[in-house]
Amino acid sequence: MDEKKLKFNSKTIHGGQQPDQAYGAVMPPIYQTSTYAQSTPGGHKGYEYSRSANPTRTALEQSLASIESGTYGLAFASGLAAIDAVVKLLKPGDEVISTNDLYGGSYRLFKKVFEKFGIAFHFIGMQNAEEIAEQINQNTRLIWVETPTNPMMNIIDIKAVSELAKKHGILLAVDNTFATPYLQRPLEMGADIVMHSATKYLGGHSDVVVGALVVNDKALAEQLYFIQNATGAVCGPMDSFLVLRGIKTLHVRMQRHCENGRAVAQYLANHPKIEKVYWPGFAEHPNHQIAKDQMADFGGMISFVPKGSDFKAAIKIVERLQLFTLAESLGGVESLAGHPASMTHASIPKEEREKSGVVDSLIRLSVGIEDADDLIADLDQAIG
Ligand SMILES: *Cc1c(COP(=O)(O)O)cnc(C)c1O
Repeated sequence: MDEKKLKFNSKTIHGGQQPDQAYGAVMPPIYQTSTYAQSTPGGHKGYEYSRSANPTRTALEQSLASIESGTYGLAFASGLAAIDAVVKLLKPGDEVISTNDLYGGSYRLFKKVFEKFGIAFHFIGMQNAEEIAEQINQNTRLIWVETPTNPMMNIIDIKAVSELAKKHGILLAVDNTFATPYLQRPLEMGADIVMHSATKYLGGHSDVVVGALVVNDKALAEQLYFIQNATGAVCGPMDSFLVLRGIKTLHVRMQRHCENGRAVAQYLANHPKIEKVYWPGFAEHPNHQIAKDQMADFGGMISFVPKGSDFKAAIKIVERLQLFTLAESLGGVESLAGHPASMTHASIPKEEREKSGVVDSLIRLSVGIEDADDLIADLDQAIG
């Protein structure tokens, strides 16, 4: 079987997977071991120490590569550990261009950890590739894209940015956490690195914290593997197993997330007490056409602003929700609601935040795979 020829919905289950060599276990065993017996110094079966490699992690890394249409996968202890490894490709004096409504933790890592090592970060609106071009200089090494953006659901044209990056010899990394490879595969559109917080949709059950990188270029994979092993923020065997199990149902979960997302977005858009709904599936969404071109569907992430409401009114709505759990994170089977200004995006200064539209009354939903009628009834009682 040439597994590269499999369609996406088969790759989630079979991609990169081999039957277990010891006993034929259908599910990859959890190799809960730090070390491996050697017959003679250096005489081992491909594994010598679990920071360097572990068979359960290898199974996950091959699955990740397969579903993202890449060649090499790397699994990390968290999404931020994966981003950290990418930034460690750089050196003092290098510059990075990134989106201004970035995941708060990525922003904090860039600004509060790496800036002091002499790496400069520029945060800009990226819906227009020309604005990115204006920021490029001879020190620019990396463009960091998140699309859809968090929490404003802006869409960035991956192909356009990749053409720009290629022209200037700059690495392009795409945080594909929100979209997942079910909706979009950035490597197919010219990105060099795709990154995931597998904590979210890939794991899918809110029971694990894991990060991932996938690349096609061998030399780049070797550099990232060197950093992964040298700095050590690897994904453990149990966590690897959980994410692998999650990936097997990614396509069916995503299909339902998209259906429910559409139903909830339409309900909110028609509600007299709602001012604004951010969801790329609306024809009026400013980047709707790009979303249609580069995504298979529009996902289950939605942000909205209640009419005339302030900080307190928004807090009341999220507190009244019963089926939606008020919590950080996203992408699990259960629906979550969040208040970016005080939760996920609290680490971004208010002025920076509001420049990109993250006002104090913005509410973000991760629409789960419950019955859509129940989700809408819950929103209805909370909005009042
Ligand atoms: C959660 C998240 C991250 C960080 O991942 P962790 O697994 O929490 O470290 C990065 N990017 C996006 C878009 C996220 O949602």
